[in-house]
Amino acid sequence: MRMMLSGLMAATLLTAPGVSAPAAAQTILLHAGRVITDANQPATGPATITVTDGKITAITPGFVDGPKEARVIDLKTKTVLPGLIDLHVHLQSNPGGDYRDEAVVSDDFATLVGARNALITVKAGFTTVRDLGSTRQGGFALRDATAKGLIPGPRIIASGPAVSIIGGHGDVNGFREDVAHALDAHNTCTGPVECAARVREFSKAGADVIKITATGGVLSQQGRGLGQHFTDPELKAIVDTAHSLGLRVAAHAHSARGVEAAARAGVDSAEHATFADVAAAKAMKASGTAMVPTLMALAGVKERLGKGIYTPTVEAKGREAVAQMGKALKAAKAEGATIGFGTDAGVFEHGRNAGEFALMVEWGGMTPREALASATTVAAKLLDKDTEIGRIAPGYAADIIAVDGDPLSDVRTLEQVGFVMARGRIID
Ligand SMILES: [Zn+2]
Repeated sequence: MRMMLSGLMAATLLTAPGVSAPAAAQTILLHAGRVITDANQPATGPATITVTDGKITAITPGFVDGPKEARVIDLKTKTVLPGLIDLHVHLQSNPGGDYRDEAVVSDDFATLVGARNALITVKAGFTTVRDLGSTRQGGFALRDATAKGLIPGPRIIASGPAVSIIGGHGDVNGFREDVAHALDAHNTCTGPVECAARVREFSKAGADVIKITATGGVLSQQGRGLGQHFTDPELKAIVDTAHSLGLRVAAHAHSARGVEAAARAGVDSAEHATFADVAAAKAMKASGTAMVPTLMALAGVKERLGKGIYTPTVEAKGREAVAQMGKALKAAKAEGATIGFGTDAGVFEHGRNAGEFALMVEWGGMTPREALASATTVAAKLLDKDTEIGRIAPGYAADIIAVDGDPLSDVRTLEQVGFVMARGRIID
């Protein structure tokens, strides 16, 4: 009886709404009008992409038919390209909420919000995301549920909560002390030893990447500005410990000196890097720290300033940050630092992620090709997954999208994705 029940459950889960899970070894043929196999290569002419068991198995010139049981998808009028990668999202968050919700909304509810946002995100063409800041278990649950196909969504690389200083961005703040104590996510640390321990705890809990808040942040109630929070020895301990465990470090950092300190400590990416100047950009270049500019976060904050949505503390930090739009990206690009695509979705509405491309081009001076590479080949490398995702090639995951027009001449075409396949599953 128990076996029958679990069998029934498995059957039900495989037909979850929004996921069409192909039967084992079913072959799908995509007839593509144009194909961008790699953002750094010219697009090629009509081709047939063969997908079996969630993987790309062949790319054949022209439109060919496979075995008669194969399903054929007509994308003959479309440009087909690798699924997009967003290196910075918060699936469990929606914009404009009251910070006091933290004391009201359960972690379970937040995870269901995350499931909804995972669907919205993958429908927008993002087949991989890095979730940088969630409840203690929620980000991992979403990661595992999408990987198993229980819910439709992107491949998720999850950090769990950010490691933060006491009273800093990422700690509970804005509440009276006893309430803050009750809401504590046990994610803060003081001194190199404690910070190394936090990294090991998060590793043990299942983190794929370590997220830290190296400086103050805009949307928290902490009123200590946007400058450096962790000390240099703390940053070094975090980075060395994470790297010893094979984990990369993504550092939220706003102020120029905060970005510089994080880069010098060897973090793998500086998230936002809003005020990065020439010296900070040089430090990023020197230590191989990628910049993830999250311009959509600034756009999202800008849309909400002056509307009584944010508290005065947040409003002041928001105005300071929004005025910087594109400046740091230009500095980082001029110094030759690596630029990875990330948006901070959750600060603005999930599903608008691709709006970042136009901001990178219009405000940051990137070419459409550079912008597309930042969300495919470059992002895949930053995730250590460049032999699995970011390109359309045999052996790669079948993460494939299609758009009208040519994204290499107009990146706004990426804001209207018409077809999405994630790990071989067609998202309806
Ligand atoms: Zn963020």
